[in-house]
Amino acid sequence: MEQAIETKKEVEALLQKRPLIISGPCSAETEEQVVQTATRLAATGKVDILRAGIWKPRTRPGSFEGIGTKGLPWLQQAKKESGLPVAVEVATAKQVEDALHFGVDVLWIGARTTVNPFSVQDVADALKGADVPVLIKNPINPDLELWIGAVERVANAGIKNIGLIHRGFSSYGNTEYRNAPMWHLAIEMKRRNPGMLLINDPSHICGRRDILMDVAQKAIDLDFDGLIIESHIDPDNAWSDAKQQVTPERLGEMINSIVWRTEEIDSEELHAVMEKMRQQINQLDDELLQLIGQRMKVADKIGQYKKDNNITILQTNRWNSILARAYERGEKLGLSQEFITKYFDAVHMESINHQNKIMNS
Ligand code: PEP
Ligand code: MN
Repeated sequence: MEQAIETKKEVEALLQKRPLIISGPCSAETEEQVVQTATRLAATGKVDILRAGIWKPRTRPGSFEGIGTKGLPWLQQAKKESGLPVAVEVATAKQVEDALHFGVDVLWIGARTTVNPFSVQDVADALKGADVPVLIKNPINPDLELWIGAVERVANAGIKNIGLIHRGFSSYGNTEYRNAPMWHLAIEMKRRNPGMLLINDPSHICGRRDILMDVAQKAIDLDFDGLIIESHIDPDNAWSDAKQQVTPERLGEMINSIVWRTEEIDSEELHAVMEKMRQQINQLDDELLQLIGQRMKVADKIGQYKKDNNITILQTNRWNSILARAYERGEKLGLSQEFITKYFDAVHMESINHQNKIMNS
């Protein structure tokens, strides 16, 4: 038996660890499964916290909806045998009460809960006076304000230790990912909450185990503080999310093969080299802005000309030929079509707005 983490302070200190690794089954299924997963995860030496869903918010009824409160003592047992503190998802006041009653160390709010302010408030009210860290997953839809709102509700309830989990955003139809990562949203959330723990959930982003590593590595490259990845002693036969789970041993290998990077630049020399290149980037950005400003001045002139001659602002043929030309040139410069499209869309919209002003002045 391992030495279990006992005190709130120890859990708090553990959450400061970088990288922070959380793993365990999507759902607790049986006591044996939970305990075995936990001890095998602990044996890898790579995992800090055990996760297991007790109440499962399923999109449609009929699939396994979680073992319920009777699974909470299994987690206590798993913690005792593995030494790993345990984390559980909560979505209602009653679930918060039950989880706290059974000494769950860390709570998390799931994506289908974050999306609903009533539910988040219900959970937050139940958390009043509790001393427990709470991790908040992004809402299923790409709405940063909802995510921030959930953080505010939980913070207003007096919870000091709040972390964020980026698990991707759902979209209609079949896509490469189960939930599109939309990394820019996580990056913006990090910018708006400096210093707050932010971990990535490759399992729910990918929905399949073959691409977990790519997403995990990307998160680390983007300076995420850690990962939450589902693991199961018999992944293919898991009662939920079977396709995306990996064995505890595979989880250990994955964590081992990630290249860990740091945002800190410690050597003077490295710092100087980086600084020089950053100045180049700043210089180039200034020049680009100057050029775009000039481009808008020409657009203004064309706008005046269109106004005087009663010509529409948008001329689809012209727009198509601009894009076609840019794709061709961009490709030679190593710029993706996706980027060219976004960039030209933005520039084009700005031109249209400028010309609109002129037309209607
Ligand atoms: C889970 O972590 O098992 C889960 C239900 O995740 P999400 O809320 O991200 O869908
Ligand atoms: Mn899951």
